[in-house]
Amino acid sequence: MAIKKKIIVKSTLVEMDGDEMTRVMWRMVKDKLLFPYLDMKLDYYDLHVKHRDDTDDRVTVEAANAIMTHGVGVKCATITPTEDRVREYQLKKAWKSPNGTIRAMLDGTVFRTPIMVKNIRPFVSPWKKPITIGRHAYGDVYDNTEMRIDGPGRAEIVFTPAGGGEPSRKTLAEFAGPGIVQGIHNTDPSIRSFARSCFTLALDRKIDVWFSTKDTISKIYDTRFKDIFADEYKTHWEAKFREAGIEYFFTLIDDAVARAVRSEGGFLWALKNYDGDVMSDMIASGYGSLAMMTSVLVSPRGHFEYEAAHGTVQRHYYKYLKGEETSSNSMALIFAWTGGLRKRGELDATPDVVAFADTLEKAAIATVESGVMTGDLLAVADKQPGNRKVNTEGFIDAIAETLDRMLP
Ligand code: NAP
Ligand code: MG
Repeated sequence: MAIKKKIIVKSTLVEMDGDEMTRVMWRMVKDKLLFPYLDMKLDYYDLHVKHRDDTDDRVTVEAANAIMTHGVGVKCATITPTEDRVREYQLKKAWKSPNGTIRAMLDGTVFRTPIMVKNIRPFVSPWKKPITIGRHAYGDVYDNTEMRIDGPGRAEIVFTPAGGGEPSRKTLAEFAGPGIVQGIHNTDPSIRSFARSCFTLALDRKIDVWFSTKDTISKIYDTRFKDIFADEYKTHWEAKFREAGIEYFFTLIDDAVARAVRSEGGFLWALKNYDGDVMSDMIASGYGSLAMMTSVLVSPRGHFEYEAAHGTVQRHYYKYLKGEETSSNSMALIFAWTGGLRKRGELDATPDVVAFADTLEKAAIATVESGVMTGDLLAVADKQPGNRKVNTEGFIDAIAETLDRMLP
């Protein structure tokens, strides 16, 4: 019960509401864990799928602009419309993914970090600290052009300069019979933005950066990534990293994979688009649960947007609508708020806000470690006599009780 004096959050925090079960939990988290303790100025954007539809998705663009104005946002999970969703919510069309729109506007990189608790052990036994994955989200095979080859002939790569001049060409393959070809690309500015976002987050969290490519084989393409990272680091980050006692480390992707599995964790692993896609799933399952994965979008200009890595937990929401009991896990949503509040507090130089964020995280972790948890966690946690499954709201109530005890 909050009879304590409320902590003032000095500057505006951008809030993006969302859909389904996460929208239900979002409300509870605010009512039970935040509003009783904080006096916040929230710039609220309702990204509910129906409201995006009503505004022809302008609300998403406004939210992204607000993050650029205020510097920090927190976002609930949102539906990315598909044909099924268009029917379900009677939408005008299948609007683009809000995360995609915001990421493109901020030119940002998404970093995912698992929340660790003592009673859920990573499947990979040496991991003691979280591994944060930063995946480059532009180009490569996700934006490719590919072709089936029916018979003998020559495949070429041709570049035609925009201002006229001789095209340059290289032979890709001389086909003796049927086969396949693929063309991929990336751009220097996109790679540099990616590098900047990675160094920004690592400095923010005081963790080392690992970057890995297949530059031994791909002597122009992957080597370009390696060179841009090296140049960006040397020019803008080396001194700051040294001062913070952290390092930038480049190694071959094969070597990085082998090292990561044997490491204690505790670093940021920057990965090209495909490597990041694959490795983030390996890391997520290695640490135990999708519901314990946090996510932050970092722009190269230092804007931050925090969210949970999971979706709207649709299946639980349908049960909730039918009045059935649910046991959905709000940990990653809570950590989205604490991430945003901590960053806000750092930027505003308000240590009491940072301390509140720290305490709320400790309270959430202590609750799970005491054995009180949602069904998804109970299934993977150490079997202990005190373990108790709680419902969606009961979990948040239990955290609120712990928080109340921990706050001064
Ligand atoms: P999801 O919401 O991540 O849920 C998939 C399954 O993972 C759930 O059914 C549940 O398993 C488990 N799970 C995820 N989060 C949980 C939590 N907090 N507590 C307990 N269990 C949790 O993925 P989805 O069902 O494939 O997608 C639903 C919607 O989310 C889609 O419309 C998609 O577009 C959207 N989405 C949004 C984001 C985002 O905004 N960042 C990201 C991904 C997906 P059980 O059912 O086995 O209990
Ligand atoms: Mg994947």
